[in-house]
Amino acid sequence: MQKDFLHVLSVEDVVSRLLACPPLACETKRLDALPRGSVLAETLLSGEDLPPADRSGMDGYAVQAADLFGASETNPVWLDRIGEIAIDRPPDFTLQSGQCAAIVTGGYLPEGADAVIMVEHTKPFGADVIEMRRSVAPGEYVMRRGEDAKAGHPLLPAGTVLRAQETGLLAALGITEVPVIRRPRVSILSTGDELVAPEATPCPGHIRDVNTLALSAMIRPHAEVTAFGIAPDRLEPLTAALKAALTGDGTPADVVFLSGGSSIGVRDLTLEALQSLGDTEILCHGVALSPGKPLILARCGKTLVWGLPGQVASAQVVMHVLGVPFLRHLAGHSLAASRSGEDNGRGHAFDQRLWASRQAVLSRNIASRQGREDYIRVRLDASTPGTPQAVPVPGLSGLLRTLLDSQGVVRIPARLEGLEAGTPVDVLLFDS
Ligand code: AMP
Ligand code: MG
Repeated sequence: MQKDFLHVLSVEDVVSRLLACPPLACETKRLDALPRGSVLAETLLSGEDLPPADRSGMDGYAVQAADLFGASETNPVWLDRIGEIAIDRPPDFTLQSGQCAAIVTGGYLPEGADAVIMVEHTKPFGADVIEMRRSVAPGEYVMRRGEDAKAGHPLLPAGTVLRAQETGLLAALGITEVPVIRRPRVSILSTGDELVAPEATPCPGHIRDVNTLALSAMIRPHAEVTAFGIAPDRLEPLTAALKAALTGDGTPADVVFLSGGSSIGVRDLTLEALQSLGDTEILCHGVALSPGKPLILARCGKTLVWGLPGQVASAQVVMHVLGVPFLRHLAGHSLAASRSGEDNGRGHAFDQRLWASRQAVLSRNIASRQGREDYIRVRLDASTPGTPQAVPVPGLSGLLRTLLDSQGVVRIPARLEGLEAGTPVDVLLFDS
C-alpha cells in the first residue's frame, strides 16, 4: 500500500507548535564563561548608581556653565584655577562661581561644578588663572551619576541577549554571575543503509554521511551537540539508535535531529520508529514547505524529535528556516517578545523580519506552487550599481554545490504563485 504523509501542516502552524514549547530552565553562569547568545532568564536590578558620581567625559576644566556664558575667542572669560582633580580620588573642595579646577577624563566633578570645558578651548593665563575661550552648556561633557544605571531600578530585562555590550555594563556594576537560560542539548543521528562514516571509503552504491557533520556545524553555535552515528533502515536498530539519541550523553537530549527516512517510501522508517516509542506525540508528518516537505516533528517525553529529510540541501534549508530558530527559541530568544504587556518590538525566534538579511531585487521570475512556502537559494550579485541582485541558484536537493554558491534564501509565501524579476526581496542570510 502506498503510504502518504499523515499530518501535513503549513509552516505557520509548525511555527506555532514550536513556539508552544517552553524555553529551557535557568542556570547561573559566570560572565567569563558565557556562551555566545546567552539570554538572561530573570530581570536584573541595579544595586548601584552608575556612574557612581558625576564624572568628566574629557580632559579639561570643571566649571560652572553660567560663568562662561557668552565666552568666545574674542571675548574670553578668566577663571581662578583652584586645584587639580586626581583620576583615582574624589575632589575634597567645592567650586564657587569664578573658579575652575583641572580635571581628567573620568575624574569626579567637584561639588558646585556643572560642566567641563575641553582643554583645547582654554589657555593658561599667568599663575593659576585660565582663559576660557568658549561657552559651555550645563551638563556638557559630564557623565551624570546614574545615567547608565540607577540603584534599585531594572538594569536588564529578562529575555535580554547578553552581548559584549551587556557584559560590559554588568562588569561595571560588579555583577559577574548571571541567571541565563541554559543551552539546549542536541543529539544528531543519521539513517540510511547506503551511508558510511565520512572517514570511511564507500564501496559502490554507498555514500558518506554528510548530514551529521554539516548539521552539527549549524547547531554547534547554539547548542551542545553529540553525534550518535548512522542507523540502518531497519526498524529495530533504528529505534534502538533513536532511544540512545534521546537518552543523550548521560542527560536526556532536549532535541534530536534525525536525518533520512522521514518520507513515505518503503525504507522510510522514522515515523514508525517514533511511534514505537512510548509517550510519543506526532506533531506533524509533512510540511507545506519546499525544500523540506518530508519533515516529521514528534514530542517524545520531554524531547522534541525532528525527522529531517535526508537530502543534504533540504536538511540544511529546513535547519536554517526552522531548526536553528527552534534552538534559539529554546535558549530564550523568544522571551523578550513574550514579555507580558510590553510592546518592545522584539520578535520571537522565528520572526524572519529580525533575522540577518540583505535587501536585493530578484534577477528573474521564479515560479512556485500556491499553498506551499518555497525557499529559493540565491546568490547575491553586486556587480551592477544600486541594490544587489538575488540570483536564484538552481539544483537538485541531493547536490551540495547550490548551498556553497548561495548566500541565503528568498522566501516565497504560500499564497503566491511566484515572484517576478525586479521584485524587492529580503535574502535571509546563511551563517548569521
Ligand atoms: P531519505 O530522506 O532517507 O529518503 O534520503 C534522501 C536522499 O538523501 C538519499 O539519496 C540519501 O542517500 C540521501 N541522504 C540521506 N541521509 C544522508 C546523509 N546523512 N548524508 C548524505 N546523504 C544522505
Ligand atoms: Mg534513506
